[in-house]
Amino acid sequence: MADLLSWGRYPYRPQQSHAVFWEMEVPQTLQNIIETAQNTLAYGLGRSYGDSCLAVSNHVVMTQGMDRVLAVDWQTGIILVQAGLSFAAIIEMALPRGWFLPVTPGTKFVTVGGAVANDVHGKNHHVMGTFGQHVRRLFVYRSDEGIVECSRQTRPDLFAATIGGLGLSGIIVAVEFQLRAVETSDIDQTSIRFGGLAEFFDLSESHDQTHEYTVAWVDCLATGSEAGRGHFIAGNHAKRSATSAQNELLLASSKKLKMPFDPPFSLVNSLSLRMFNTLYYHRQQQKIINSRVSYDPFFYPLDGIQQWNRMYGRAGFQQYQCVIPQSAGRDTIAAIMQEIAKSGTGSFLAVLKQCGQMTSPGLLSFPLHGVSLALDFPQIEQKNIQLFSRLDSLVHEVGGRLYPAKDAHMSAVHFQQAYPQWEQIEALRDPKLLSQFWQRVTQ
Ligand SMILES: Cc1cc2nc3c(=O)[nH]c(=O)nc-3n(C[C@H](O)[C@H](O)[C@H](O)COP(=O)(O)OP(=O)(O)OC[C@H]3O[C@@H](n4cnc5c(N)ncnc54)[C@H](O)[C@@H]3O)c2cc1C
Repeated sequence: MADLLSWGRYPYRPQQSHAVFWEMEVPQTLQNIIETAQNTLAYGLGRSYGDSCLAVSNHVVMTQGMDRVLAVDWQTGIILVQAGLSFAAIIEMALPRGWFLPVTPGTKFVTVGGAVANDVHGKNHHVMGTFGQHVRRLFVYRSDEGIVECSRQTRPDLFAATIGGLGLSGIIVAVEFQLRAVETSDIDQTSIRFGGLAEFFDLSESHDQTHEYTVAWVDCLATGSEAGRGHFIAGNHAKRSATSAQNELLLASSKKLKMPFDPPFSLVNSLSLRMFNTLYYHRQQQKIINSRVSYDPFFYPLDGIQQWNRMYGRAGFQQYQCVIPQSAGRDTIAAIMQEIAKSGTGSFLAVLKQCGQMTSPGLLSFPLHGVSLALDFPQIEQKNIQLFSRLDSLVHEVGGRLYPAKDAHMSAVHFQQAYPQWEQIEALRDPKLLSQFWQRVTQ
């Protein structure tokens, strides 16, 4: 048994872990927990930032050991895996065979079950939608029904409540989904330095037509004529060169740095942020750089430093991720950035992404057609409460919403307004499963 936290390490509520390795162990493990603790929740790799992966009882079912491939067809790319298998493990197996994940978040250290429960999105949302759109079948254990198979045709209610369902509709034991074919393990990348938000929106509009992956980093502390400056990054899977006889499906090296200890205070403060953001902005001298890069630094730049979340010190940090509907995107993102710059706090990387129009099969899926902004804040209680409340007003005024996977502060009123389908999830919630997030926003 090890104590577990969420990625932001805030709120600080250590979870006792109860590991499962096979589907048939899930009922007994759940039963054992319930005898003393009333409720529980599945826990994957703990890459959710706030309290959505924390059980109210502080006892979780750890799924990482359920990590086997159950069936795979390398001709079609259809794969059936246990829900605790990580994206990192899938890449290791699939990429050398010419397959990649259809959608991936900014870390490969997530489980397939966690990716379904948060219906994760990535840099290709405008083309591929969310991960849930590529799921064909789910096998879900419910304490009142046993293992249930669900899909768009069979038990569509449970399917819709499980994709993006925050782990509340049951414990996902297996997932069948469609991989996407690639010719090489590289990305043809274009990196463009931009001077302000208006330029970001123009770049998104043009590059979303031609590139599968687009995202931007913005300097959240820049003000005046430099406000909204950043780097826009677009990419496509590189094609195999007709003349090369070399293997172009190569796994990236697994060498990593590690944050070796918990500093007593946050290493992220307004001084270090300002220095880092300025240096990062100016590291690219030319306006545009085209290059061919490996998939790993392109998709997972933060995975290079293990446990980077510790640099925020023992108090931890919160991520603020919102999505603003398209019609209000330009003005509201500008207003949010202005509030953040005024506050003098924020993260090394504020990430802006234009989300597409595809709708997910999941009831509580986060992305809307519009613009998403994500950034981290060191946990400083009073400062965050005041800033988040100003940001929340701006988001909700225009019909935007926050991402539950990243959240540790959203009010019940804001959640219920932004996700009116929440009552359908509550109706299908397994009575033995309850997260701290769900209790906070619904009860
Ligand atoms: C560096 C970084 C970058 C990220 N970038 C993105 C991004 O670009 N896009 C994005 O969408 N997200 C992003 N995330 C968030 C991350 O992708 C999600 O939080 C993901 O769900 C984490 O998966 P996990 O396996 O760690 O699940 P956990 O965090 O352990 O759990 C997440 C939820 O899934 C549920 N769950 C887990 N396993 C199961 C199961 N077997 N059955 C039922 N429920 C289950 C849990 O109960 C919980 O509600 C990022 C996170 C990090 C740390």
